[in-house]
Amino acid sequence: MIVEMRRGATQEQVDAVIERARSYGFDVQLNRGTDKIVIAILGSDTGSVPTDVFEVLPGVFTVTRIMRPYKLASSEFRDTPTEIQIGDVTVGGPRIVIMAGPCSIESWEQLSSTAQHAVSAGARIVRGGAYKPRSSPFSFQGLGEEGVAMMRRVRDELGVPVVSEVTDAHQVEHAAQELDILQVGARNMQNYTLLRAIGQTTKPCILKRGLSATITEWLQAADYVLAAGTSQVILCERGIRTFEDSTRFTLDVSSVPVVKRNSHLPVIVDPSHAAGHFELVPALARAAIAAGADGLLIEVHPDPPNALSDGIQSLTFSDFARLMGELEMIATAIGRSL
Ligand code: PEP
Ligand code: MN
Repeated sequence: MIVEMRRGATQEQVDAVIERARSYGFDVQLNRGTDKIVIAILGSDTGSVPTDVFEVLPGVFTVTRIMRPYKLASSEFRDTPTEIQIGDVTVGGPRIVIMAGPCSIESWEQLSSTAQHAVSAGARIVRGGAYKPRSSPFSFQGLGEEGVAMMRRVRDELGVPVVSEVTDAHQVEHAAQELDILQVGARNMQNYTLLRAIGQTTKPCILKRGLSATITEWLQAADYVLAAGTSQVILCERGIRTFEDSTRFTLDVSSVPVVKRNSHLPVIVDPSHAAGHFELVPALARAAIAAGADGLLIEVHPDPPNALSDGIQSLTFSDFARLMGELEMIATAIGRSL
């Protein structure tokens, strides 16, 4: 951290900054310019201390971070990319992983037909929501444990890993027994109790970016999961809220290379929730692969007009199969495969 003192700051004020830095066990380097004093605060763990503790001191003008405020998710913590093994699927390796399925699990017929079509078109992980975080309490809330049991059945019958969202820490223990990956939804990115509970299981986690979260806050949330003991976090960009209202959310494609630069964790993209409309999903999916995403999470439904949630952004079986062909070409163009 770099602390820039105000012009005319007193020696006593400078000493107070130095004393506070030392109280955290940090080293201090004092630079006296012609009219300003700049204090460099050095240590491997300065990222864990908020800048406020220096900013509040009298005579301090600005405090600038050098270390990133996240640690375990940082590329400084681990300089090789993390690969996450789920059955025989690797997320974060050269092969791009497509995950697909309905927004909500509505019935066994709906889930199993979607899963079969998705897998036969090339999806290697099946998604499906059992606990649905809906904006209105009067909207369909999901089948809960019954839905989780159906996901388990998909896994057993098709032999593919399955992912579903957990919305509350109480659901984690049971869901971890039945599912291969636990998803944290955008609305829960900062639900720290939930993040800790998931980190204590042995299951990988897909951590969605919050609706209004910066990439730094997202990586700090990943730190919560990692700090609880697991090393298996997959980040998922799903669009953020901006002033633009032509799409449901603005897909921040640039977060993919930024995460790749700042973190060792794999990053996937959910083009469905960003687009908010099925006609826009393929373009966002293609852009995500071109930008270097390790995978995609796509909503597919047998009968989108009659879906109980997110029908408008869900792909039909044939649209999904066509998209898979396009993604294959893009993957090849950038030296990867599906
Ligand atoms: C979902 O994946 O169905 C979902 C609710 O996504 P998000 O948390 O990104 O809104
Ligand atoms: Mn959805």
